[in-house]
Amino acid sequence: MTRFVFVTGGVVSSLGKGLTAAALGALLQACGYSVRLRKLDPYLNVDPGTMSPYEHGEVFVTEDGAETDLDIGHYERFTGVSARRNDSTSSGRIYSAVLEKEREGRYLGQTIQVIPHVTNEIKDFLAEADGSADFVLCEIGGTIGDIEGLPFYEAIRQFTLERPQGQCALVHVTLVPYLESCRELKTKPTQHSVKELRSIGLAPDVLVCRSNLELPERERQKIALFCNVHQDSVISAPNLESIYLAPVALHRRGLDRAVLQSFGIDPLPLPELSKWRTVVKRIANPEGRIRVAVVGKYTGLDDAYKSIAEALTHGGLANRVSVEVRWIPAENFESEDPRIHLEGCHAILIPGGFGERGSEGKVRAAEFARTEKVPFFGICLGMQMAVIEAVRNLLGVANAGSEEFIPKGEEHLDQIEPVVFYLEEWIRKGSLEVRCKDGAKGATMRLGAYPATLQEGSKVASIYCCTTISERHRHRYEIDVRYRDRLAQHGVVFSGMSPDDVLPEILEIVDHPWFIGVQFHPELKSRPYDPHPLFADFVRAAINYSRLF
Ligand code: GLN
Repeated sequence: MTRFVFVTGGVVSSLGKGLTAAALGALLQACGYSVRLRKLDPYLNVDPGTMSPYEHGEVFVTEDGAETDLDIGHYERFTGVSARRNDSTSSGRIYSAVLEKEREGRYLGQTIQVIPHVTNEIKDFLAEADGSADFVLCEIGGTIGDIEGLPFYEAIRQFTLERPQGQCALVHVTLVPYLESCRELKTKPTQHSVKELRSIGLAPDVLVCRSNLELPERERQKIALFCNVHQDSVISAPNLESIYLAPVALHRRGLDRAVLQSFGIDPLPLPELSKWRTVVKRIANPEGRIRVAVVGKYTGLDDAYKSIAEALTHGGLANRVSVEVRWIPAENFESEDPRIHLEGCHAILIPGGFGERGSEGKVRAAEFARTEKVPFFGICLGMQMAVIEAVRNLLGVANAGSEEFIPKGEEHLDQIEPVVFYLEEWIRKGSLEVRCKDGAKGATMRLGAYPATLQEGSKVASIYCCTTISERHRHRYEIDVRYRDRLAQHGVVFSGMSPDDVLPEILEIVDHPWFIGVQFHPELKSRPYDPHPLFADFVRAAINYSRLF
């Protein structure tokens, strides 16, 4: 039997609902259960693929090529379970499905309404996961009380009612603020948000109370009484130094017990948390510290490069060091000497990105790393910029560039020699995929997991310890393989290729301590307890570099 846990949020957004769901998933796994995590987002975008990283944080790509919310990334990092395309949905997706059915005449002339048509569509989404795991955890985006979320809450109410008793539970994540003026933790916002839940027919089984401080017994009692929740189910969730402390911290405060008890599970299993305890120990006792410069476009917003930041942390855990990231806007390098900004940094990473802004700065950062022998990791756009730099400065093609940066309608001007070009046909799982240049934005990219073949004896083959890998992609443009032989003469080698030997997937510089570019996004597959080999090795190279001084 599949049990469903719904995770909602109250009072304010950004409380860490997604992290709570992810940590709970990890705890249930540690208790021996299989889990699946899913997300229902109230926004009207059909998927987050076209949403600005400034507003929404990074787009996380699943194995099967779906562009999803960054919370899905947390789910994967905590549970190691690969999310699937249909593990997330949004109001936009639900409404389009309903409208499509209406156009097809599938409702036989009925008046289409939020209840039952939209709620039925949501319930179908929920039911689809039935049987796929012991526990399915569904996070509802947004905050209780938002207009957009109502159909989701209503669908959960109906779904819970229609299932046999004891198959669904509701975990509500809420805020207990500390008021400096009276030096007190305030429970009223939590009471109000539970009242809000009740007014739409939902009652929480477990309350996760986020706060700056540990919640004392008295406050937990009060919340239990006023919110009609058992005191053991009022979980104190104070801020933590690292998100990876959450599974152990929430276990100590009784989250897994409370959830399992709400399902009437008896006897309660004891979670096997050794891998998480190792993570906790390494976070608490780093043996050193390195600093990595991330040269990108959206450096003003932490969430824009969430998976990169996390993968660097994991790389640090693998080497028992803490990794500090210095976010540097790439444009800085267009007018200023990279040296000024890179002082005290032990490695340079250029992450993925879109658009021309800052691209010349990225090319300069790659040049600096190559010539100064600073460890360099170029990811997706970062690899493309490194190739452009090498073609310009080693092969002397001064106007080498990317087709991405040629303004529409100016293709005929021939000002740029496109080393990075728009790919119109490629092979996915044995069949040809085709798209055209003026296709609509969204869903026009090479997305999801693709295999690559690594050159025997290359650095990357020794890092991965194999010669066939699979990594996730998200890009429109590709590096032109025509430059392969000429670049190789300068020690710049495409050491990873698509299996048909057409698309360069990895670049490495032979005569450099660590200069690797990858066309894919390895950060998406890194886990705190199982760091991605490229990130682990990159951090190792940064440690070595730091010892030179
Ligand atoms: N903008 C580049 C492309 O579409 C790189 C994309 C990325 O870095 N994810 O190919």
